Amino acid sequence: MAQIKLSNLRHSYLSKPESDEDYALKKIDLTWEDGGAYALLGPSGCGKSTLLNIISGLLVPSEGKILFDDQDVTALPPAKRNIAQVFQFPVIYDTMTVYDNLAFPLRNRGRDEETVKERVTAIAEMLEVTDMLTTRASNLSPDNKQKISMGRGLVRQDVNVVMFDEPLTVIDPHLKWKLRSKLKELHQRVKATMIYVTHDQTEALTFADQVVVMQDGEIVQIGTPVELFERPAHTFVGHFIGSPGMNVLPCDVKDGGAFFAGERVGLEGPLEDVTNGSAEIGIRPEFVSVSGNGTGLAAHVRKVADIGRHKVVEAIANNSRIHAILEGDAPNAGDQVNLEFKQSQTRLYKDGWLASTPGEGVQ
Ligand code: ADP
Ligand code: MG
Repeated sequence: MAQIKLSNLRHSYLSKPESDEDYALKKIDLTWEDGGAYALLGPSGCGKSTLLNIISGLLVPSEGKILFDDQDVTALPPAKRNIAQVFQFPVIYDTMTVYDNLAFPLRNRGRDEETVKERVTAIAEMLEVTDMLTTRASNLSPDNKQKISMGRGLVRQDVNVVMFDEPLTVIDPHLKWKLRSKLKELHQRVKATMIYVTHDQTEALTFADQVVVMQDGEIVQIGTPVELFERPAHTFVGHFIGSPGMNVLPCDVKDGGAFFAGERVGLEGPLEDVTNGSAEIGIRPEFVSVSGNGTGLAAHVRKVADIGRHKVVEAIANNSRIHAILEGDAPNAGDQVNLEFKQSQTRLYKDGWLASTPGEGVQ
């Protein structure tokens, strides 16, 4: 196993890229530490598969280097990189049994049959496919084929990294949650570096210790699930993570503070080099409280959705939509209310990027 470092990576699928738009990956500098459980999270088309294929060697980047423990592997073909990759759709040999499919990566590298048996048995148990070992792969359901595909990725113990590219796409919804937590457990047992690619925040947050969020060929934030939730570095992360996502409200910066609807809004702390003019306030629905007591921002309630554990209130203030998540009593649609933002969780964003710093709080 190894530390994997991506240095000054850029990639374009065009032969003569000109502007930034021509690059599927704009500029990536990133280190994956040995043994980590990582998720690479971002919407479809943001460059996740491109990045994985560069790590595995299926693609050679237009610019930059890939280092495994400081050894430059940029020019090495996939077979020399000692990597396991699991794709969106199952890659298995239909004519072989499940056992032989799982054994394949080991036999291919000349492991003796005793070792093969030991590993295949262990992986089959972890994935709960022991009863299928003698079944021919062509007779499996798509779900089970993908499980075997994942097993093939996990069976070798000497790989530098196991990478999963949206592996649960073909899995039935009711099995998804089960496999999701299974993978987390597998990481703890196998202890290999794992990179799990997904566009689904729940999958990413369940699996990973560190989540790398990508947008449009760039990394916008790397952090633990809690960090991404609490202090999104970019409004994109705020929107993308959370349900509903962070409220982002237009504001005016002047006199060292932020103004929404003509009112000063208390922020978590001082602003860092923020020029006067338009900016945005970011506040998660979890930290918006609703009352009718006359203090706070005047708003009217447009909708209230009861989603079981809590209620989601959609209110309008100064033409902006603001969501609040409430645990107890909630107002009704049409009510006039007052909204208050928890100050320590109220952040300022300038040009999309976080521009307030935690501190005493400023009015
Ligand atoms: P993701 O996996 O996040 O959905 P991809 O890495 O597949 O994103 O794609 C990133 C961008 O590169 C997209 O704009 C996509 O259209 C483009 N792209 C991906 N593969 C190719 C290819 N083989 N040739 C040309 N463009 C590609
Ligand atoms: Mg992809």
